[in-house]
Amino acid sequence: MSNVVLKVTTGQLKKMAVFYQDYVVKPVPYSLFTAKKNLTTITGYNSGKVLFQGQNAASEAAQWQSPSAQAADQKASVKKSSLKKESPSKSGLPAGFSGWSVIGSDEVGNGSYFGPLTVCAVYASAEQLPLLQKLGVQDSKALTDARIITIAKQLLRQVPHSVINLMPEKYNEIQPTMSQGKMKALLHNQVLDQLLRKIAPEKPKAILVDQFELPSTYFKHISDQKVQVKENLHFQTKGESHHLAVAAASIIARYYFLKTLDEMAVVSGYPIPSGAGANVDLVAAEMYRQGGLELLGKYTKLHFANTQKAIRLAKI
Ligand code: MG
Repeated sequence: MSNVVLKVTTGQLKKMAVFYQDYVVKPVPYSLFTAKKNLTTITGYNSGKVLFQGQNAASEAAQWQSPSAQAADQKASVKKSSLKKESPSKSGLPAGFSGWSVIGSDEVGNGSYFGPLTVCAVYASAEQLPLLQKLGVQDSKALTDARIITIAKQLLRQVPHSVINLMPEKYNEIQPTMSQGKMKALLHNQVLDQLLRKIAPEKPKAILVDQFELPSTYFKHISDQKVQVKENLHFQTKGESHHLAVAAASIIARYYFLKTLDEMAVVSGYPIPSGAGANVDLVAAEMYRQGGLELLGKYTKLHFANTQKAIRLAKI
């Protein structure tokens, strides 16, 4: 959680009010607008101070400090020092990274007992970034499932991407021989390679993987692979707030994951919840009672502790 305060002109403040109009909530006293976007609350005070509060405060505020935003409003006076804490250089990424042509990758489903492990890579060229912003691409955790589906369908038509939807049956076949970390590394490496081939001869300026393990571990994991994507490769936790390509990848991955859960519900006749909580155990117990591990293995990641819980519940 972080706070960033910018001091802007009246003109800039009005521009921001328009920009955030789809996200407004009840304004606080003395403010022109209050909005909630990207896990961040943005309050524009009549005094010209704009307060960004929340997980992505720094990145949300940063877009108002970009050279283009400043060129658009030369008078905007911006307090840069308050941004230092989470500036791009501090994140380990090169300055200006969020405006580069980048391939981003992310995965969904690794913490969910039911459903696939879905990994996606998206190529967002610098020219396409305004479009992604217009489509509402942001951290998928801040979006409802309905919104994710709407945005994903547009993204699938508009951006080069590559997806691997590793279904439970295959996952359970591989899992005993490798850690989930290794599995994820191999899948990221694979979608990145697929996408690089797809967009060739065009090349991204960089690749950003939403970091899930130490880079040294990642490279160890892919070291036995024939193709190893390494050139201009960066890792960053909360990658979606550092480049829209990662945010878009996460939205598409989540879309495929949700779609697969829906299909599984139709095929199995059970409601298929995501996650790994108690509601998951109840459905799994019913499934186990009906068809044992063989049936469960078609829909779940069997190595999760939920399997043993479901078996215990089924025997009650
Ligand atoms: Mg991730």
